[in-house]
Amino acid sequence: MSRKLVLVVVDGMTPAAFERAVESGRAPALAFLAQQGDYRQATSVFPSLTPVCLTSIATGAGPGVHHIPSLVWWSRQERRIVEYGSSFAALRAAGLSQGLLDPIFNMNARHLAPEAVTIYEALEDAGLTAAAVNITCYRGRHRHQTTLPGVSRAAYGPSRFFFYGLFESDRTGAPFAVRSRRAGSVDTYAAAVGRWLVTRDGFDFLAFYLSGYDFASHAAGPDGEAAERALEQADAAIGALLDAAGGPDAFLERYAVVLLSDHGQTPVRHVARLEEPFADLDGQVVVTASNRAGQVYRLPGARIDAAELARRLDGLAAVDVTLRLEGDDVVARRDGADGPVGKLEHPDAARRARSALANPNAGDLLVSAAEGWELADLGGRHHAGGGSHGSLVAGDSLVPVVTVGLRAEIHRITDVAPAVLAHFGVPVPGSMEALAGVG
Ligand SMILES: [Zn+2]
Repeated sequence: MSRKLVLVVVDGMTPAAFERAVESGRAPALAFLAQQGDYRQATSVFPSLTPVCLTSIATGAGPGVHHIPSLVWWSRQERRIVEYGSSFAALRAAGLSQGLLDPIFNMNARHLAPEAVTIYEALEDAGLTAAAVNITCYRGRHRHQTTLPGVSRAAYGPSRFFFYGLFESDRTGAPFAVRSRRAGSVDTYAAAVGRWLVTRDGFDFLAFYLSGYDFASHAAGPDGEAAERALEQADAAIGALLDAAGGPDAFLERYAVVLLSDHGQTPVRHVARLEEPFADLDGQVVVTASNRAGQVYRLPGARIDAAELARRLDGLAAVDVTLRLEGDDVVARRDGADGPVGKLEHPDAARRARSALANPNAGDLLVSAAEGWELADLGGRHHAGGGSHGSLVAGDSLVPVVTVGLRAEIHRITDVAPAVLAHFGVPVPGSMEALAGVG
């Protein structure tokens, strides 16, 4: 029987931030895992935004299979904008208003493609016990009632399921500070639940998600002191898991580990509104943008095609490249000229672009922002002066990965789920990407 396995996702941690934290001695838990395991960089998906990335990690598939297209998108079926919110940390504090149904329930129950098997479903169907803490892609076989009084709608998650205090499969005593939206309190909650789970050895597989680092890196930039402090907090949350097992060595006797982030971050100084170049097309297109990615959707009856939409962005400093389908071909438009996506220097660009465009919920034109630029969201919010992500560029796209006790090598974030299933000897479902390098 294989060792049990803990998957740790530190949102937004770049390879450089990880390496600095390990080398400086400020992150003893990360340093221990790095020293005991294999370290490499892997590639995220496009757009490199958390709901897309976490779903890719949990389903072992890109957006072309799992159908979550972005942080904010246009539902052609429902003719409305779906907004998952820029801060999951705010979910609990904000309560359960209509706008929060999308990130809390609908992303997993309605938007996530039914045929995209999650890691929790695959493991629990094989008789193993899966646990999830705060990770936004959680779909499983077990029905969970929310802790909020008066709300009858349930969610389906793994048998051990903890989600910002809104769903708690077990009474752990972990405090969720309703009044405090600070990211730190969210990870403190995650750490308390994780400690409870490890103390009881209450799972075969645990997905443990920490969002605080990304929050701090958005505010202060990926290379600032505030981000480094936030990484120390993430390290402390991971350290709590090690302690609960009786120390680092005892932890690794019981568990294999996959530790990675979902995407990177790059500094942003300038802001653009992607709506502006299309302002005269009211009723023909819908524009959705957030962080460093955007989409333009043609509405039924639109008299403008995707190629014309792309030409409207020629010469805009905020735009690095646009992507669209012409028949079966992915066309990348950059510097005022169309070209094959294979010519782009961005990591794994052709594969990521094709998967993004294969998503039925994706826009007709996808926009990847230029270095240093952010696209304001629907509310005009942005992180200029801080950090952001979402584009194809390397800084947004490359993530650190540490594996301990795993035979497979993880080169893409979509490799995680099939690698974990292979570790347990569970057949990899056809919806997941084939895994290379299983020893
Ligand atoms: Zn982020």
